[in-house]
Amino acid sequence: MKKYGVLAGAAALMLSAGGFGTAAIAAEESFVTIGTGGQTGVYYVVGQSICRLVNRGAEQHGIKCTAPSTGGSIDNINAIKNGDRQMGVAQSDWQYHAYNGTSKFEGEKYDKLRAVFSVHGEPFTVVARKDANITSFDDLKGKRVNIGNPGSGQRATMDVVLAAMGWTTAEFSLASELKSAEQAGALGDNKIDAMIFTVGHPSGSIQEATTTTDANLVPVTGPAIDKLIAENAYYAKATVPGGMYKGTDVDTTTFGVKATFVSSSDVPEETIYQIVKAVFDNFDRFKQLHPAFANLKEADMLTAGNSAPLHAGAVRYYRERGWM
Ligand code: GLU
Repeated sequence: MKKYGVLAGAAALMLSAGGFGTAAIAAEESFVTIGTGGQTGVYYVVGQSICRLVNRGAEQHGIKCTAPSTGGSIDNINAIKNGDRQMGVAQSDWQYHAYNGTSKFEGEKYDKLRAVFSVHGEPFTVVARKDANITSFDDLKGKRVNIGNPGSGQRATMDVVLAAMGWTTAEFSLASELKSAEQAGALGDNKIDAMIFTVGHPSGSIQEATTTTDANLVPVTGPAIDKLIAENAYYAKATVPGGMYKGTDVDTTTFGVKATFVSSSDVPEETIYQIVKAVFDNFDRFKQLHPAFANLKEADMLTAGNSAPLHAGAVRYYRERGWM
């Protein structure tokens, strides 16, 4: 059996040498890694979906892509900065702060950060156990709240919200730092009263949280949130539609960001060009890979949520398509 395989391979090689030149002159191999998030989040699907489309063309362009689970936005930006990973998914607020050296990135302006495209919207989503009687953000006072793992976008944004409210984690009876993939289980096990996740919808993680236990989504509104939205272009009002999750039949108002796909100007133009081409040449296929991608529009993805300059490889592809 094995021998047959080798022979078949040799025959294919001869065939290609006889006329299909591109396969015979295989492109130089390069390996790229996309930083994602927890395994039950949408970033993980973004990374896996991009890699799936890229790896289909590996014989032509030589790029092999992997997308491991990571700590999330901040972790992904830092990994690009120190050269551990070439690309990653990051919230638009953290793309902005990393490029401009503000907020959590104060004094660490990363001017090689490049936007590639933005993806789905991510409402800042609070889910609470029904028996905890939490119907507003203020009700979180005195409760056991999972504020998220350091390195995640939801944790970094939660820190911003707390500061805007004039709160610290001391307002909570417990401030746990579980990763996104662990928090639905902790909510169901009654280890926490509420969890926070900045994530695209519908999200497997929120579905898990609202089906394994009686839970409700909590609106995130009020003067402090209005001020955040008014003062920062990367924040916008966001709504999670009623009926999307068990236990919440009405629309939930909150604020949100965009998920964005980022890289560094140190990553070669050709690499990013091929990756962007793999996604947009197969865009209908990409959109089917997660319900949160269903309404994506190419034109928005070039602009909305991006504050760092576009990567040269992305610009090359977008110009070819006449999109800029
Ligand atoms: N927005 C989250 C973060 O920045 C990740 C969301 C997801 O995993 O889909 O860490």
